[in-house]
Parts: sequence; structure tokens; C-alpha cells
Amino acid sequence: MNVNEVYIVFGIVFTASYVLHAMGVTIGYHRLLTHRSFTCPKIVEYFWILAGYLAFEGSPIWWVTMHRAHHRYQDTPLDPHSPSFGLFRSHIGWMLNRGYPSHIDPSLQSKDLLTDPVYRFLEQDGDWHKAHRLAFVIGIFFRVAIFVCFGWVAALASLLAGFAVLQIPIMLNVICHIPKLGYKSYATNDDSVNVWWVGLLAFGEGWHNNHHASPSSARTGMKLHELDLSWLTIRAMEKLRLASGINEVTPAQLAMMDSARKSKQLTQV
Ligand SMILES: [Zn+2]
Ligand SMILES: [Zn+2]
Repeated sequence: MNVNEVYIVFGIVFTASYVLHAMGVTIGYHRLLTHRSFTCPKIVEYFWILAGYLAFEGSPIWWVTMHRAHHRYQDTPLDPHSPSFGLFRSHIGWMLNRGYPSHIDPSLQSKDLLTDPVYRFLEQDGDWHKAHRLAFVIGIFFRVAIFVCFGWVAALASLLAGFAVLQIPIMLNVICHIPKLGYKSYATNDDSVNVWWVGLLAFGEGWHNNHHASPSSARTGMKLHELDLSWLTIRAMEKLRLASGINEVTPAQLAMMDSARKSKQLTQV
């Protein structure tokens, strides 16, 4: 393989892997499992979750439980990763614990996932270190398999894409909860903001204020410039009969919900 071929193979595999793994996180882990914003056949669910898992995302039960806790306690001291209480904690500090804090319990907050034997296995009885190690080993094993079948360029491109995608939720947790880094379209009771470049890199997840305004909506892009590739993919899945029961909150509905929220806030003052 000459140098040009190395660049071409690397570029193609990196881009394809990035898209696949990122969609696994945004569509699979986030919009499907955490918020149940649409339903799909189990095989399709596993496909997206595997795509996210191979980007070292960790146990789906852990991910869902912690993200639901983030929404429940948004930007309060009980929020697992609000940047209001320290940047290091918000970035990776919160993940270094060995287990769940006392106010977060997957048997209460992620009951819907505990019946799935695959997710239970990946959860490793709630031992975060063991579950993270397992995700890491499986992720590396996957790249070894790519190396054996397609060579080192493809394996390296896939590995780097996996690590790049791993940064998406970690980056979101911090950047999209620092008000001065973005704009707020809706009067949510938290610090969430929309950040355009996170929106693009994270396939729609950076419209985070929109998301906090209506977490169960499968759509997060509301304005014309708010490109939401995850939403477009979910719509395409619906056309292919791979997704149904989609919960779409439209800009008009979200504006009405926002007015109601503002009036409530005024009456509480
Ligand atoms: Zn958030
Ligand atoms: Zn969410």
C-alpha cells in the first residue's frame, strides 16, 4: 500500500466508523434507551447499542441510569456531572467512582433495562471498574479482528474513531452546560445551552437546551440551522420500517411548552 492509499483507506474507515459509532451513542444509547423517544425491533436496538459500545461507551445500564439522573437533578449538587461543581468532576472525575452514589439506583431508575440479559452482563453487577474494563477489552478485541482481516490502517482508523466518539458525551456534559459557550432558546430550569459546533460533531446532540426543554423528543434540532442528523436518521429508519412510535416535538409545540413554563416561573416568583 503506498502513502496515498494509506490516506484514502484511513479517511474512509475513520469517517465511516465515526458516523456509525456516533449514531450508536446518539440514537442507541441516548434517544432510544435513555429517553425511549421511539421504538424499534430488538435486533435494530442491539445494532445501535453495539455500535456505541464499540466506541468504549460502557455498560448501557450504567450510561442510561446516569443520564436519567442528569436530567432528574440537572445542575443541582445531585447531578452526576454538572460543571457548576467543578470542571474535572464534570469531565471525567464522576466516572472514576467504583459504583453508584446512594441517590442513584439502576434497579429503580432503569428497571426497563434490567430484564435484558445482554445489558445485565455488560453491567457487571454495578461494578463500574469491571464494566469499563470489559468495554475496553471488547473494543480492543474488535480492532484486533479488523487488523487481522483488513490490516493496520483500517484498525488504527477504527480505534481512533472510537476514541473520538467517546469524547462526544464527555464533552457535551461539560460544554453544553456552561451558559457563556452557547445560546438558550428555551427557559429551562438548568444551565443547558445549544452549541453549534457540538451540534454538528455530535449529530444533533449539541442542541442541548432544546433537548432539556423536551428530553423525550426524538428530534432536537428546532431552528433551520440546527442540523440534527440523528433525527434525520430516525426518520429514515421509520420510512424503512425500522422505527415506529416516534415522539416528535415540533418547534411550535416546544414554543407553547416554553410559554407555559415561563408563566409558571412568573407565578412562582
Ligand atoms: Zn444536559
Ligand atoms: Zn438526554
